[in-house]
Amino acid sequence: MINFKRLIPSSLVIIGSLLSITQSQAAEEVNVYSYRQPFLIQPIFDNFTETTGINVNVVFAKKGLTERLKREGKNSPADLVFTVDIGRLDEVVKANVVQGVTTPTLNENIPSQYQGPEGQWYALTTRARVIYASKERVAEGEITSYEDLANPEWKGKICTRSGKHPYNVALIASMIAHHGEAETESWLSAVKSNLAQKPQGNDRAQVKAIKEGVCDLAIGNNYYYGKMLMDKEQSAWAHAVNIVFPNQGDRGTHVNISGISLTKSAPNKENAIKLMDYLSAPMAQKMFAEQNFEYPVKAGVEPSALVSSWGKFKSDALPLKDIAKYRKLAVKLVDRTGFDN
Ligand code: FE
Repeated sequence: MINFKRLIPSSLVIIGSLLSITQSQAAEEVNVYSYRQPFLIQPIFDNFTETTGINVNVVFAKKGLTERLKREGKNSPADLVFTVDIGRLDEVVKANVVQGVTTPTLNENIPSQYQGPEGQWYALTTRARVIYASKERVAEGEITSYEDLANPEWKGKICTRSGKHPYNVALIASMIAHHGEAETESWLSAVKSNLAQKPQGNDRAQVKAIKEGVCDLAIGNNYYYGKMLMDKEQSAWAHAVNIVFPNQGDRGTHVNISGISLTKSAPNKENAIKLMDYLSAPMAQKMFAEQNFEYPVKAGVEPSALVSSWGKFKSDALPLKDIAKYRKLAVKLVDRTGFDN
């Protein structure tokens, strides 16, 4: 892959030393396009290189990788796409830039609900969309489900980011998958009328708002709790809330994923599959989940001690590909209910 370095525009960040890219002209390699941040993946890739002798070259970007793969077509140097959210995995499948792959290792390590259609993507970690509840103002057991968020007792007490953020789109899509369109629309309208303020900010900003007394409940991904605890200023926000894993009495908590896809072009297909297998195995699963306070997809691999301390929970077993198909409709419901207004 002599041209890989030259193909990277300056607006993108190259991870890995120049040395490894120079060496890679002669050595085995695999090229990754990643939406995931360098600090999360580099230690695992370094480990893979140590074990296999295969260099991993990474292009990191915050957006536009699907368009890039489309533009590059069969000449793309990329072998793998690394991303978060079922929406983005669905996007690469729909854009026809990835190919299906299946190996005994992937099948053994990754539960089928976390595999894309015909192996077109594989989840590597899960992240739970939890309810953050004020320690001071919400008693334990007072809220136990996403459905509860629609109850009139929470009028003016809920905070959330935009309904159109992929995390909320997936949650709303999961509500449609379980309850149908009409019921989900009523639910969303009721949640809207319970909001303390117009949807704004990110997941962490909602927990901050609880700390400041703006609201009592917020919707957010679980790993932000860990990130807030590790932050000098934000740890006080985390300490103001309890984590509630919704729907433990029925279908389980909605989870989203981070995952990986093999590109259609994949010039280093064999190495790419080796890396996929490697990422699904216990050691990489453990490392990867720990880096960002997420959950390993492989059964029997425990999350970090901190994440474990938040308690075990049951997650929604509905295959994510069955949830993803309602994403478009979910966005429509956000518009129809004026959720973000
Ligand atoms: Fe996030």
